Amino acid sequence: MVGNNNRLVKEKNESLIMEVIRKNREISKADIAKTTQLSANAISMITSSLIKNKYIHMCRIGESSGGRKPEILAIKPGTFYSLGIDIDTDGIRFAEVDLAGNVKEIKRLKMNCIRNADKAFGAIKKETARHKSEYFLGFGIAVAGQVDISSKRIVLAPNLKWSNINIADLIFDRADFYIENEAISSAIYESLNGICKDTDNFICINSKSGIGAGIFIDGRVYRGENGSAGEVGHIITDYYGLKCECGSFGCLETIAASHRIASMCGLPSIEYVVEKAESGDKRVLSVLKNVSKHMGIALVSIVNTLNPRKIILGKEFCLYGKLLIDDILSFVSKYSLPSSRNLEILISDAGDNASVLGAALLPQLRIFGK
Ligand SMILES: [Zn+2]
Repeated sequence: MVGNNNRLVKEKNESLIMEVIRKNREISKADIAKTTQLSANAISMITSSLIKNKYIHMCRIGESSGGRKPEILAIKPGTFYSLGIDIDTDGIRFAEVDLAGNVKEIKRLKMNCIRNADKAFGAIKKETARHKSEYFLGFGIAVAGQVDISSKRIVLAPNLKWSNINIADLIFDRADFYIENEAISSAIYESLNGICKDTDNFICINSKSGIGAGIFIDGRVYRGENGSAGEVGHIITDYYGLKCECGSFGCLETIAASHRIASMCGLPSIEYVVEKAESGDKRVLSVLKNVSKHMGIALVSIVNTLNPRKIILGKEFCLYGKLLIDDILSFVSKYSLPSSRNLEILISDAGDNASVLGAALLPQLRIFGK
């Protein structure tokens, strides 16, 4: 029992040190001591073992502040890595990310995944087969919909028309995988490596076939009682509006999801909408004005309820968000409570890759004690 406790303490201190190094990017042992309150002896022992096991490395010698020049430690790049997988209606994205957060490769496989879980997981099985080295930490899967992260099941993914899928049944020869909702995956990326690194309260709102959000409250993911928190696409912004996939009427995503915008503009895709808007097409601009108003209505409710510091618009918002953001900002600042005065609404700088990059971080979270 004592041995067991010692091992737990050692693991806890290891992940504490890993997290301090990750957060600071480069740090000396003396500064780790200041942040963690661990003894110099304990830090020396743990960092030596982390160096030996290739988790961290000495990246340079620092400047002396009197005594010996300090060794500066960093997460070791290019050794341990994991794979992110983002499943959407029209394809699957794969991203290889190392423990230092470097992206080695992102690729996209086009396929119709609607009602096609077997085919999608067949492709995933094929892709993951080559990742089996001792430095492979596992793969994370992001899906737009409700997931159960502990039993690794997709409970309901309405736009994919998938329900109650036990992933282990489809990838039966592997256990080194994790699952997460795609908007929460984006939020995990923004929190660890993106534009919310120093932000505890923020919301990532993604648009693709629907609109969903990943919510961070006090530095942690907020999932809600049944794991379905963040379904902001189903905030009703027009009670007399169109029927939604969820059975209700006038939900935000019936107006502001990208394919709905394209169909309201009479255009085949959101790319055409962006092109027409940029050339000043009056019909397209008036559709977008209306979209901004409905986004504004939803965001005012979200902001007044949760008081976030930042809202990050991601996925296909990265394509058309720039056409909406000024109107959304002025609507939100006009109608939300004064407590939201320091709110920032931004477009993700990961383009539409935040969710696949977040999925790649899922197998790494434990190493950093998250
Ligand atoms: Zn709905």
